[in-house]
Parts: sequence; structure tokens; C-alpha cells
Amino acid sequence: MHPECPERLRAVLDGLSDEPFQHLSRHEAPEIDLHIVEMVHQPFYIEKILASTPEQGRVQLDPDTVLSPQSLEATRRSAGAAVEAVDRVMAGDAKNAFCAVRPPGHHAESSRAMGFCLFNGAAIAAYHARSAHKLDRVAVIDFDVHHGNGTQHSCEAEPNLFYGSSHQWPAYPGTGQEDETGCADNIWNVPLPPGSGSAPFRRGYEKRILPALRDFAPDLVIISAGFDAHACDPLAQLELQTDDYRWVTEQLLDVASECCDGRVVSLLEGGYDLKALRDSVQVHVSALLSA
Ligand SMILES: [Zn+2]
Repeated sequence: MHPECPERLRAVLDGLSDEPFQHLSRHEAPEIDLHIVEMVHQPFYIEKILASTPEQGRVQLDPDTVLSPQSLEATRRSAGAAVEAVDRVMAGDAKNAFCAVRPPGHHAESSRAMGFCLFNGAAIAAYHARSAHKLDRVAVIDFDVHHGNGTQHSCEAEPNLFYGSSHQWPAYPGTGQEDETGCADNIWNVPLPPGSGSAPFRRGYEKRILPALRDFAPDLVIISAGFDAHACDPLAQLELQTDDYRWVTEQLLDVASECCDGRVVSLLEGGYDLKALRDSVQVHVSALLSA
């Protein structure tokens, strides 16, 4: 079975059906308007995804990334959720939002599908927040165990976009070194060796990402919330515990409350151990709910 499977979302939704989450305001993810996707992805690439979508069976886009007949709708809803969440948070309907979506997006480049990702929801949400809501400064923080190469590339030439990532290194996709700093010191990478565990992860936020994020003073914080750095995850070896996700979420909420009235939009990225994913999403959304 492919690790990026429908059971992942079932585990997430099952976790969010527990008692503490009964008052969540829930909304179906709309399919994104492709004109919004064009802010991040090249038109020829969008055309390629449309044209490659099979009527039946599977089409392999890269060694990891497969299109099924439903993939186009899924990725349009995944990125559509991100845009809708930005709109709702900016309208004040909610202080923050979590998008329970798949496929993930942070590896998707402007003209290339990669690593289970087709459209880059986090980058699209950031560009949409600037164009539709006239925000000056938007930050994306990515704690997925893999570096979000696509998101970094979408942000690195834009001084008013910030990308901060903690991730295992060496690991897929191979990018994300500390010396990748963007055009205006707006890229902050914390590469962590396999087996690091909680302390170096938290230190990377305390010493690098959080101070830089505070200096940047975002008008909106977008989280690429991947949970595959968990010790139980089969795809990587960063050895985080469930409680690390509560901690990092609270840290990011603190910055958001100082800089931008607590405005946070979080998008599900990776996380491939179903129990660890369910538990980690629960502590992440609990922290969002308590903000
Ligand atoms: Zn990942």
C-alpha cells in the first residue's frame, strides 16, 4: 500500500470526532479556482496535471507520486481548503483553522509534482493572502520531517514571505541546509540528523526559527503541519514525541498572538503512522482550540 493513503485522513477525522473536538466549526473543502493556483504553479504544469489525470488506473508522475482518477479533485480540494481557511481567518470567522487534507503539498514545485505532492497548498495560501487580503508579510512554518523544497522555492525570492523549516537531514528531498537563506534572510532551515529527538528540535525553534519569525513580524502564520517526525513514523527517524507537536504549536501561536491577533492557518502535510498521526493531530488541534 502507498504510504499516502486514504486511511490517513480517516485516522485524522476519527481523532477529531472525540469529545473535546465536538464544538469545532467544520467546513467542506471547496475545489480551488485554477487561477489562484497559477500564482504559484506554471500554467503548463497545471495543464499537464489536468491532461494526465486518468479515467481509470494510475499514472506515475515521479517514483513516489501517482495520479488516480480522483487525484485532481483531491488536490484541488486540498489547496482549496487552504485558501478557504485563509479567507475565513481573515474575515474573523475563526481565529485559526486546521485543514485536514490530502494529498500534502510542500514538495510541489512551480512546474513539477514531487513526493506525493501536486499543488503546493501552503505556498498558494501565502500568495492568496497577499493578493486577496493585501497582507504585507506572510510566514510559512513547516515542521514536517521532510524539507518543503517547493514552498522554500516559492518564498525565497520574495522578501515579504518567510519560510522556516525543521526537518531531518540527510533525507528526502535533499534541500534545506542552513546556508539557504533566501533573498532577505527570509528562509530559516533547521536540518536535524536522524535520531535527534525532542531537545535539538525544540532548540532549533528557540534559537533560530522563533526569533527570526518574531523579527519578521508576520501578518499571518501558515503551518505546514506534517507529523512524520514522530518516533513511530515509518518514513523517517527524527524521533519526536506526540507532546513536541503540542509544544511547537503553542510556540507558533504565541508569536501569532504577538504579531497578528493569533491568525494561524494550519495544513496537514505528512504523517504515515496512523496512530501517531491521529494522536499528534489531536494535540495540535487542541492547542489551536485553546488559543
Ligand atoms: Zn514528510
